Amino acid sequence: MLQRTHGLAGVVAAELVLQHFQVPIWSWETAGAVLLGCFAGPLADIDKPGSVMAKLFFPLSALLKLLRIHHRTMTHSILFTALIAAALSPLPPLYGWTFVWAYASHPLIDLLNEQGVALLWPIRRKFRLLPKFLAIDTGSKAEDAFHIALVCIGVWLLVRYAMAAG
Ligand SMILES: [Zn+2]
Repeated sequence: MLQRTHGLAGVVAAELVLQHFQVPIWSWETAGAVLLGCFAGPLADIDKPGSVMAKLFFPLSALLKLLRIHHRTMTHSILFTALIAAALSPLPPLYGWTFVWAYASHPLIDLLNEQGVALLWPIRRKFRLLPKFLAIDTGSKAEDAFHIALVCIGVWLLVRYAMAAG
């Protein structure tokens, strides 16, 4: 999936966490969590040479390449996500959980991709949710449709939240 799709999925994850913690919709906390989600969503693609995240965190991405960590393996695994959750546990829960769920949304939606994800890394086996003919290729028309669906979900969550708050 493209960076923008992952960013959007991160925002949807942030919205769910905000609702869970009942954070007032017009607040600095909400703005912070949404920005954090938008950033954490695409982060796992630091393992993909040439991606925005790989460029942004250049020394780290170069190290991953050196260690021969391939795309959609370690950084997309349940183990790595759990380690991140443990590392972020000292943070205030709203931001810690926003980061973790936005990060986790990445491998989750990559499961819709044709190549699949090594969710159980270091076990190499890759998993995917859809049969090949339904899978969503990166940058395809299907991804555009998925992106629009995510926008709808994001807006719907926002409206529902705003109504509940009002
Ligand atoms: Zn990815």
